[in-house]
Amino acid sequence: MTGVRKDFGVCPFCGSDDAEIDYDEFDGEYAFYKCSCNVCNKNWTDVFKAVYDGYNADDENGKEHLFDKDGNEL
Ligand SMILES: [Zn+2]
Repeated sequence: MTGVRKDFGVCPFCGSDDAEIDYDEFDGEYAFYKCSCNVCNKNWTDVFKAVYDGYNADDENGKEHLFDKDGNEL
């Protein structure tokens, strides 16, 4: 099939965005989501390449601070 826009949660078979999405596993820098289409009932797995871009951390007062991947507070 051609001409179907493929995006996260969009069925690669019929193009519907009416899909069930379940987190499956994280492997290295890839995350896998098992998807099933509610329209054509096909299944596929969406693959994400995760890019580490920093973290949030709470200080002793419970206030959240944002840091970039070099540890600099934002
Ligand atoms: Zn479909």
